[in-house]
Amino acid sequence: MSSVSRGSLPGVTERERAASALEAETFDLAIIGGGITGAGLAREAGLRGLSVALFESEDFASGTSSRSSKLIHGGLRYLALGDVALVRESALERKVIFRLAPHLAERRWMVLPVHSRTALLKFRAAITTYEKLGAVERDDLHQNWGEDELAREEPELDRSEWRFACAYREYLTDDARLVLANLRSAAGLGMHALNRAPVTQIAVENGRASGVTAKCRLTGREIRVRARCVVNAAGAWVEAVRRLEDASAPPLLHLSKGVHIGIPATRLPVRNLLLLNTDDRRGVFALRRDEIVFVGTTDTTYGHGADLWPRVLRADVEYLLTPLAHYFRDAKIEIEDVRTAWAGLRPLVAEPGKPPTDISRKDEILMGRGGVVTIAGGKLTGYRPMALRTLEKVAEVLGRELPQAGEGGPLPGGDFAGELPGLTHELERQHGLARPTAQRLARLYGSEAHEVVSLGSESLAPGAPVIAGEVDWAVTREAAVGVEDVLYRRTRVALFEPDARRASAGPIARRMQALLGWSDAKTSEELAHAESRLAGDLDFGSAPA
Ligand code: FAD
Repeated sequence: MSSVSRGSLPGVTERERAASALEAETFDLAIIGGGITGAGLAREAGLRGLSVALFESEDFASGTSSRSSKLIHGGLRYLALGDVALVRESALERKVIFRLAPHLAERRWMVLPVHSRTALLKFRAAITTYEKLGAVERDDLHQNWGEDELAREEPELDRSEWRFACAYREYLTDDARLVLANLRSAAGLGMHALNRAPVTQIAVENGRASGVTAKCRLTGREIRVRARCVVNAAGAWVEAVRRLEDASAPPLLHLSKGVHIGIPATRLPVRNLLLLNTDDRRGVFALRRDEIVFVGTTDTTYGHGADLWPRVLRADVEYLLTPLAHYFRDAKIEIEDVRTAWAGLRPLVAEPGKPPTDISRKDEILMGRGGVVTIAGGKLTGYRPMALRTLEKVAEVLGRELPQAGEGGPLPGGDFAGELPGLTHELERQHGLARPTAQRLARLYGSEAHEVVSLGSESLAPGAPVIAGEVDWAVTREAAVGVEDVLYRRTRVALFEPDARRASAGPIARRMQALLGWSDAKTSEELAHAESRLAGDLDFGSAPA
């Protein structure tokens, strides 16, 4: 296996130097958008020796790539659509991600509870076909659970209704951390990237895109970068970016809002990933991660344009609570039990006349008038194959073949033997950490958790599972520039730690103040912003969806 490539992303104190470096050379590739699509492309381009500049208008992964269900899908869902190639691609791809970053591809059972043996047999036929097509390995083959096993695994399920289950493998990832790992790997291969730097113009010379202008929100500096090829990987914002190249570019996307809610595991003691049927014949997941079970997702047309923070509405929450009442009758989960929530926008490639649930999740690659390559749609799961397809277009623009490259070495944090339980145990033993802290750090940072702990292992606040070293790591390696970045996309406390999300904000702000020399006024401003964001997550209002 090749060695791990790991760089750092430029933090607040390195912005000027990073901006000057960006202006100093002509890049092969300028990428607009720092979600999984842009990050995956940057790494694959780097593996092929291309020089890459990447700009993200807000924070890395602040768009859809921090709001997903966080599953590396094996592709079973594509079987129903008859898309055999996609089944194979997804099943094989999750193995690659597992090899590159075992901490970001945790093998978990997806449990489909059913009423009867007949239903179980029907599902089993489909899953067996899927496992053959996807060359699913022995360890990952499905299991059929009878009444006793189901009672042992999911004791709170209403057993008068749900007596059997098929358990098949899905892999749980951490979307935002997968983005950061790809970006840091790309940085190790020479990529230059800036967050808080929206691209405001695409330069065109002789009818061809020749670079971009980005504005650094922190310093106010305009950065002009020359590039032989420009890729628009702006997710829900691809249309706005296309119009920078061609003001008359036609609409492309159908945005669909997807909501997740988080319920403390003490209230909803789910152990695996459960697949629950809804009244409108969709499926929603209930997934355990740390102290939270998150339930999602909705799939509704979003007509307000590409918002960074689409609101979670009462109707969304009620929709997600309904199946819980069917499957966990005794738990009696109420809206007041919801302690975290997030919404994201799916940038689906529009298919006129179809509702969002029927629109394909396939990606589409378009070449603009000035040669800007736009990649739209797709899934987190397929980010590598999407990057490879995009590179074929990039090669056309560059007018040369790109060298072959393998899958590369592990992503940062991915170079450890075995799986998460082994790493968790090692962290407990070597650093005297409590099991929940060790488990959490292993998931977030993989083998790099040792370095994170060495930066400060003390808990930031009583009851807060975040350790001090995480803030330093986020600021110095992962370009976190505000408290929100650390809470939402580096430590994930805002999503997965219901008891600590508010308690952590103040200590994170004070640690950042010390690291970055913030004034008291700046620290208070940062804290107020983070607190209002945390409160906003749970302000469901009463408006209809
Ligand atoms: P984004 O992550 O949105 O990235 C685009 C970035 O471009 C943004 O960060 C934005 O700020 C930036 N940008 C915009 N304009 C500019 C500009 N002018 N200059 C610079 N930067 C700019 N997929 C799966 O495989 N598994 C799942 O379980 C799954 N669950 C999902 C659940 C939900 C609710 C949703 C909504 C999606 C889910 N998906 C899932 C799909 C997956 O999350 C998306 O396909 C993926 O995250 C899209 O990534 P992206 O990089 O294209 O977009």
